[in-house]
Amino acid sequence: MNRVARLDHAHVWHPFTQMRDWLQRDPIVIVSGKGAVLRDTAGREYLDANSSIWTNLHGHRHPKIDEAIRRQLDRISHSSALGLANEPASLLAAKLIESANRTVPAAGRSGAFSGKRKSRATGALSKVFFSDDGSTAMEVAIKLAHEFARRERGVKRPKFLSLQNAYHGDTLGAASVGHIELFHKSWEGLRFASDVVMAPYCYRCPFNRAKPERADAREYRRCRWECVGKVEEKFASQSRTRQPYAAMVVEPLMQGAAGMIPQPRGWLARVEGIVRGHGAQLIADEVMTGFGRAGEPAIAAEMVPASGEPRGGHKAGAAGCLAVQHEGVRPDFVAVAKGLTGGYLPMAATLTTQEVFDAFLGGYEEFKTFFHGHSYTGNQLGAAAALASLELLESRASQEARRTLENVLREELKSLWALPQVGDIRQVGLMAGVELVRDWRTRAPFDLRERAGMRVTDAMAKRGVLTRPIGNVLVLMPPYCTTPAQARRMVAALRNSVEETFL
Ligand code: PMP
Repeated sequence: MNRVARLDHAHVWHPFTQMRDWLQRDPIVIVSGKGAVLRDTAGREYLDANSSIWTNLHGHRHPKIDEAIRRQLDRISHSSALGLANEPASLLAAKLIESANRTVPAAGRSGAFSGKRKSRATGALSKVFFSDDGSTAMEVAIKLAHEFARRERGVKRPKFLSLQNAYHGDTLGAASVGHIELFHKSWEGLRFASDVVMAPYCYRCPFNRAKPERADAREYRRCRWECVGKVEEKFASQSRTRQPYAAMVVEPLMQGAAGMIPQPRGWLARVEGIVRGHGAQLIADEVMTGFGRAGEPAIAAEMVPASGEPRGGHKAGAAGCLAVQHEGVRPDFVAVAKGLTGGYLPMAATLTTQEVFDAFLGGYEEFKTFFHGHSYTGNQLGAAAALASLELLESRASQEARRTLENVLREELKSLWALPQVGDIRQVGLMAGVELVRDWRTRAPFDLRERAGMRVTDAMAKRGVLTRPIGNVLVLMPPYCTTPAQARRMVAALRNSVEETFL
């Protein structure tokens, strides 16, 4: 074992890791990276098939982002946002708002379930609160929505609703709106109570009457949108208690840590209609789905009125960066992190509306201030990296590369249907989950103790492809610079590893 590995074993406690298992193995020690490739101390190369836990967008050591950080280093790395402004953070806030407000198709915005009661229109996003990671971005959204409901709607004890198996981070507030029994039960005494509602998980949905097929379960499901009906029921019964929900929290289009669970097209817009109909707010957790991960939303020309200025101050133009834009949904809060800096530095942001901002304005002595902040809020190095990353994202070259990669991935993943242990393959843009089962005909799951996912990813690592499973679900989330040949290698490694594991 080399010196670094020895030091790691002596002192480092790794996240979400059974350290007894960790200490029995030689760790892979990464020393460098370039593009989609990571290199270890022994000179072995690996494809970074989950973009270093979903953070890296454009590949490692991208010259444009490296250069932006170096340029910023020559000026200043950090000064406090408590009492001071700085250029990169101001530019980044403006850029995020501009991108997040781009107009998107409104298809499905007013579905059968959209409420008729105290419907609240939502204004454009206009304010950015910076923090450090996905969990803190969610904490900020939760605190703001809580206080907004108290101040503006007179709700005494605001409650939150989120989805079955939701994961929104590990700080206590973010964990309180999470519903993964395995992770969250340990903190039961510390979390505040929140409500849970059925998530659209077509593959294992009790209302889906379709028999298993060799296709994404969303495509062949037979149901009556009962999952949306459950959301409506929750809101209706909560409203009767005179303590209506302050907000609903969702990961748009795809729930990540829940097991890469995608929503059928139209679910999000229908749910937005319900949330609005009950006068509640919508918190979109785009920590995983943001910055092009969900693919390119089609910006429909017909959405732009003749005046050229879309309603609500939402701007038309190149594709936006958020998953909500795929369904024309406008949240009151959007949390972004992971890919914000292209996967370079820990930085996060919570975007919100003028209406929310205004609820915190007042005379100093009224103490309506948002009493929350982090030491590295608005950090210049992070903001410089993020600006460079956003510029890359909007380049034609990146958009085309992403489209190609998405198609290659879709084509390659089809080969996995030949494996009897592959139950469902679900891809949204550049995020893919492959659910392993005992037998696809019965959908019978592996017991978690069998470590089916981990055994496959260990075998993939031996083939030079790194990713991390979520239980029995294998994840592919390649950096956008991944070449078609590299994408094929990722899928081939997965296929061969499943075959080897279940021989
Ligand atoms: N929200 C979602 C959807 C996430 O996937 C994660 C992290 N996996 C978080 C929040 C928390 O982000 P962080 O790990 O940066 O705190």
